[in-house]
Amino acid sequence: MMKLTAKHILYGFLILFFIATLYSAISDSFQESKELALSELVGKVNAGEVEEIVVESSTLGIKLRDGSRFTSKKEEGSSLSDTLINYGVPSAQLSTFKHTEKDPSGLSFWAGALLPTIISLAFIIGFIWFMSRQVQRSSIQSMSFGQTRARMISPDSEGNRVTFKDVAGVDEAKEELREIVEFLKHPKKFLDIGARIPRGVLLMGAPGTGKTLLAKAVAGEAGVPFFQLSGSEFVEMFVGVGASRVRDLFKVAKKASPAIIFIDEVDAIGRHRGAGMGGGHDEREQTLNQILVEMDGFDTSDQVIVMAATNRPDILDPALLRPGRFDRRVVVDLPDIKQREAILMIHSKSKPLAKDVRLKGIAERTPGFSGADLENLVNEAAILAARAGKREINELDILKSIDKVILGPERKGYVINKEEKKITAYHEAGHALVAASLPNADPVHKVSVISRGRALGYTLKLPSFDRHLYSRAHFLDEIAVALGGYAAENFIFGDMTTGASDDLRKASSIARNIVQRYGMSKTLGPITFGEDNQLVFLGKEIGAEKNYSELTAQKIDQEVSAIMKSALAKAQKILRDRKSKLEEIARILIEKETIERDEFARIVGTA
Ligand code: ADP
Ligand code: MG
Ligand code: ZN
Repeated sequence: MMKLTAKHILYGFLILFFIATLYSAISDSFQESKELALSELVGKVNAGEVEEIVVESSTLGIKLRDGSRFTSKKEEGSSLSDTLINYGVPSAQLSTFKHTEKDPSGLSFWAGALLPTIISLAFIIGFIWFMSRQVQRSSIQSMSFGQTRARMISPDSEGNRVTFKDVAGVDEAKEELREIVEFLKHPKKFLDIGARIPRGVLLMGAPGTGKTLLAKAVAGEAGVPFFQLSGSEFVEMFVGVGASRVRDLFKVAKKASPAIIFIDEVDAIGRHRGAGMGGGHDEREQTLNQILVEMDGFDTSDQVIVMAATNRPDILDPALLRPGRFDRRVVVDLPDIKQREAILMIHSKSKPLAKDVRLKGIAERTPGFSGADLENLVNEAAILAARAGKREINELDILKSIDKVILGPERKGYVINKEEKKITAYHEAGHALVAASLPNADPVHKVSVISRGRALGYTLKLPSFDRHLYSRAHFLDEIAVALGGYAAENFIFGDMTTGASDDLRKASSIARNIVQRYGMSKTLGPITFGEDNQLVFLGKEIGAEKNYSELTAQKIDQEVSAIMKSALAKAQKILRDRKSKLEEIARILIEKETIERDEFARIVGTA
């Protein structure tokens, strides 16, 4: 907490001064009417120009018949009529104007006297209250260039407080994080027994699985301030700025302790040092070093816990993972079917669902969806329902949105000519029929020739359960399915189109992975070749040596090509054997454009 500084007091005085000036200006304008001498007033009364005189103790408010206003003073202790008669006004003239007495001790008198004081007092109290609320925040926000830009969520901001209740699924992660909450809430319990409070917690998991949400929930549960900053915000091209931000961030957090510092997407700074491409990596190293220095510099009484999130734990600098740094690692998994249902429940709570909606059924149809995907799904369904002018979201809205979330929006207005539609229909029918004929391929959910995103048509397949292991047989069947479209075009039209290029790329990459990553090749055996090839994106592997010989490279290529050829042969055989089915599917697609799961199963006879 900060104390009121001289600067704040100065501001206070300035505002007071302003209020005082304003007040005197306003009250002046009320008294703008001119003062008349009593003798002048007598003249006007005699001339019959006066319409009304208001008496308030010894002050007279005068209103003339032409509308102008004046003030005057009468003698203390005698009434208005006496005063006027003393000045020689004939008593008959007294009835030519209205005469009002105002009681000076009345409510309006007190209000007039006290109101300005009350208002300025309220201003001052309000101002002090406002400042004291701002002090803590401004101590962070007023730091400008080179200082921390963290956003802080303070524990008493009711509006965006997140707790474990808002996070569904991820039960193991929550269990581990409960311990961190305990540390933050009752540090003494742990210190007394000599336990070292963990300094760093690394949340690892696919994008959208709720890592950021979990970190906020830990702060919410423990009721401590939460400083959030993303890795890429550190990485700005000013030398030294990243490091000084880290220093300031830790300084502020220590003052506010117990507290949580959350570095989102830490891989942006924490990747292997020396692995960066181009400029900016010196900067990143300095930033990373500063984080490590700060974490090493914690002593046991600093109750600041650093949490970080990444979806690429494999590329993190090993120095970050040493004991005393991010030594707690929490895996945040994609949700399984039960957890998906729970997540759907959370995000549909504030939305009116029709009675026909079975969230369990939706969860069944969304394997591989992350929490963020599911939130997006419910939102898309709500938009769909609202656009149709409905008051409730029904199941069809949600089912339609599943396709949209997976494949992008439909492009109904996109016209394809008859010839292209026919080719697309056979292409998709090829995928679908091969998938339906192979035991280890994922089942077909939907076939369509309505274009979505970049594709002219699509065959939507979803695993029938949550897959964690993939077998060689499954991969081989998937390659055959991917080549099904290509094979069908070739079989029916004797030609090939560019429509199959995405399929070919997908099939080749599965085949390469079978050989190089999973060691599933019979001839080359249980060996991996090359590092995880995703690293190339981040520059580490560029210019790095291959860890296999040219001869092996040749063998790999041969093996990949053999896998592709045998998969193509498999697809071709299926299409030849079941040509009538292929034609039936294509015909229905041309006519109706979309075939759903149940109808498709009836056609190919798997229902
Ligand atoms: P990450 O940081 O892992 O990429 P986020 O925490 O940013 O994911 O999640 C994005 C959004 O998805 C959250 O704000 C939340 O609405 C939703 N979400 C993700 N996972 C869950 C979950 N397990 N339970 C509830 N909502 C979730
Ligand atoms: Mg995130
Ligand atoms: Zn295709």
